[in-house]
Amino acid sequence: AMRHLPYFCRGEVVKGFGRGSKELGIPTANFSEQVVESFPSDIPTGIYYGWACVGNGDVHKMVLSIGWNPFYKNIKKSVETHIIHTFKEDFYGEILSIVITGYIRPERNFDSLDALISAIQEDIEEAKRQLDLPEHLKLKEDNFFHLPEGKIVNNR
Ligand code: ADP
Ligand code: MG
Repeated sequence: AMRHLPYFCRGEVVKGFGRGSKELGIPTANFSEQVVESFPSDIPTGIYYGWACVGNGDVHKMVLSIGWNPFYKNIKKSVETHIIHTFKEDFYGEILSIVITGYIRPERNFDSLDALISAIQEDIEEAKRQLDLPEHLKLKEDNFFHLPEGKIVNNR
């Protein structure tokens, strides 16, 4: 999973397929199908972490899932970013810039909603810890986050 990292990506936030992430307290900003298709086809599905910025806002920690998209009968991937920050408003239609710096675990199923939620909480804690390490922290300051807005760059 590490071979493709760090991975830089920028694209519009689109409506997802309403799996109720927001109701669980963990909204995920979805990239469009076009952006997902620009990802390397052999990047493993699973949970990753890194840095994210909406428009030309601040850079925040994030956790990201690369998974199979149930809307397309699991033949297409989806890429969803949960930014570890409380936003005042939704940001559909805005440009999300991310750098994926590390991998946490593969995708898996859970027996209950509670088990799913606690796994995600653990992923978030793991991401926060890892991102404080110098090798990950340095990417928060990457020039990528200060390039002109709107320019779509996938791994430069
Ligand atoms: P959808 O199925 O449309 O992706 P979600 O329940 O996953 O719906 O909510 C995602 C939306 O919530 C994002 O597109 C964004 O506009 C908004 N949002 C608000 N706060 C956050 C956050 N911290 N991280 C990601 N998205 C957020
Ligand atoms: Mg979502």
